[in-house]
Amino acid sequence: IVREKVTIIGSGNWGSVIAKIIGNNVRKYPAVFQESVNMYVFEELVQGKKLTEIINETQENVKYLPNVKLPSNIYAEPDLLKSVKDSSLLIFVLPHQFIDGTLKTLKGNIKSDAKAISLIKGVDVRKGGLDLISHVISRELEVDTSVLMGANIASEIAKEEFSESTLGYKNKDNAELFKLLLETPYFKISTINDIAGVELCGALKNVVAIAAGICDGLNAGQNTKAAVIRIGLMEMKKFARLFYDGVRDETFFESCGIADLIATCQGGRNRKIAEAHAFTGKSFAELEETMLNGQKLQGTLTAMEVHQILEKKDLVDQFPLFNSVYEVVFKDVKCSQLLHKL
Ligand code: NAD
Ligand code: 13P
Ligand code: CA
Repeated sequence: IVREKVTIIGSGNWGSVIAKIIGNNVRKYPAVFQESVNMYVFEELVQGKKLTEIINETQENVKYLPNVKLPSNIYAEPDLLKSVKDSSLLIFVLPHQFIDGTLKTLKGNIKSDAKAISLIKGVDVRKGGLDLISHVISRELEVDTSVLMGANIASEIAKEEFSESTLGYKNKDNAELFKLLLETPYFKISTINDIAGVELCGALKNVVAIAAGICDGLNAGQNTKAAVIRIGLMEMKKFARLFYDGVRDETFFESCGIADLIATCQGGRNRKIAEAHAFTGKSFAELEETMLNGQKLQGTLTAMEVHQILEKKDLVDQFPLFNSVYEVVFKDVKCSQLLHKL
């Protein structure tokens, strides 16, 4: 029998939590998965020592997920190509700004029957139109690619607090396999045949989270913040529908939709940095650099990408919230203007 070999491509805050889950789950199902799991780590020095060496010696990603032990079957590998050698299941969990270079290296170098899943919350606009990261992965690597998005603040799942997630798929068998690999009693996964809906929820809620953080920074009331979240949800749905046929209503009521929106608008990094911007007036780039210790924001770049697409289609006016976030982040528009434009 051929057992699935898993590689996690990415090792940030969420990537490391997913490594913990996967390392434990492959041991639960030894007939299905090989025990040893590779984790591709973008190499860097932490206090003079290679991060991969630290992880392999201490079973802890001291930079991106300190104080959480990874299972001993997780092997940190700095060489991307070595990390995917013989792997049949590829878990993409990088900040979306780094997917391009990663796929260039992987192209033509993965197993022909490999299957992928993307946990990346972002979009791709490099070709001038809107593209899903999962579609880019599928095209570049010629693999089926599912997606997993949800109300999944990594630090909470690291502590095994109950949460849910949504797996969007095209191929039902692959969805079931990834569900087996990723689900735990504290991390419940539902599946839905709507990749575009699930993935766009994951990407676009990061833009709304910036607006929510600005509300917090302005000391706006609960009604105001709820209004911003509601308007954001409507723009997410309208945007998804505009660009993809077959996006389902139910998707917005899954964990990837309303639940992730609520979680991120209360406790995410995009919210936190936006709040700090409203307080201090410092740029998002500076605050990301000084407050996140190497972790990356997805909402600022996504706001820019969404803006580019809407501008091209002459639709900016139909998305006042997305547009206002773009203007606050990139055009020096005052935070107080955000609410005036809604
Ligand atoms: P992160 O923001 O914590 O860490 C940044 C990562 O980028 C690090 O692993 C770093 O090594 C890597 N990196 C830096 N420069 C790089 C380069 N040039 N090439 C490749 N990698 C480089 O990462 P994360 O939280 O795991 O986020 C990955 C994806 O998961 C994002 O799309 C995010 O939206 C999504 N996500 C995050 C969370 C969360 O709570 N953290 C939850 C759900 C989804
Ligand atoms: P942030 O990147 O804003 O922290 O959001 C994390 C997330 O996607 C939770 O589901
Ligand atoms: Ca500003």
